[in-house]
Amino acid sequence: MFEAISPAVVRAVMQRFGLSCRKSLGQNFLVDSNIINKIIAAAELTAADLVVEIGPGLGALTGRIAGRAGRVLAVEVDKGLLPALSEMLAGAGVIEVIEGDALKIDFDRLVWEKTGGEFGRGRGKYKLMANLPYYITSPLIMHLLMNHFNLSMIIVMVQLEVAARMTALPGTKAYGALSLAVQYFTEPKMLFRVPRTVFFPQPDVDSAVVRLSVRPSPAVRVASEEEFFKIIRASFGQRRKTLLNSLTGSNLGLDKESFLRALKKSGIDHARRGETLSLAEFAVLTGNIMELKG
Ligand code: SAM
Repeated sequence: MFEAISPAVVRAVMQRFGLSCRKSLGQNFLVDSNIINKIIAAAELTAADLVVEIGPGLGALTGRIAGRAGRVLAVEVDKGLLPALSEMLAGAGVIEVIEGDALKIDFDRLVWEKTGGEFGRGRGKYKLMANLPYYITSPLIMHLLMNHFNLSMIIVMVQLEVAARMTALPGTKAYGALSLAVQYFTEPKMLFRVPRTVFFPQPDVDSAVVRLSVRPSPAVRVASEEEFFKIIRASFGQRRKTLLNSLTGSNLGLDKESFLRALKKSGIDHARRGETLSLAEFAVLTGNIMELKG
């Protein structure tokens, strides 16, 4: 059976393999079985599940996921960790470790290849779990969502402040392009807070575990997803500007008069700021801007 993880175990394994925790890769390992149990429970795993884990590290979650799910594909960027990980996971279940950078992986293609076409685009949905290195959180979430990978659920541990951004409502300080993308593709739920003391070494921030239940189809209909996200990004470009000025100062290709018309037609006051608009309002605005662009 694989070894239960603790600060002493992490220290000993790292030393034995001549490794040190790489801060640049966000290597803060989970060493608290209570939190690990809560993360595993949150994923509601069954033997039918295929789970992709990003950043297995020393396998604190990996072995436990494998105990419940049918199969685990774990993607780790740090080649140096792999021998230690393989020792920690000996006998833990059906786990395949893949060396790679999660930001560059086409996950549908990976699971398709690894499962002989059982999971992936247009086939079985799979789950994604990660105690994410903080430096890749937003780009990775965007990579997973914007590529429409065939995921049913994403369970991630993120910095507390990022969890607040994912679940933020219009008009709040935390609301922004990440909130809109996450809420367009998924139903996010902040599950529980995680104090920094459960990691070794300890990070400088507290964390939270978030469950993103991927919607069967996005929350609102948009004329063009690409244009929709361009408009959102432009609207949040300069937070202190009015929506009209942010849009006019962007490279969306219309003049001030036209944006004014599009806003009016959408029933949105041009003096509002981007951070007060809901998903539905951005969707209507996208349609009207596209109509004016012809
Ligand atoms: N899952 C382990 C745990 O909970 O103890 C380790 C979590 S640690 C916060 C993050 C892990 O992600 C590290 O093992 C790190 O090497 C790995 N990692 C960092 N950047 C990555 C990337 N771009 N792709 C895949 N793994 C990455």
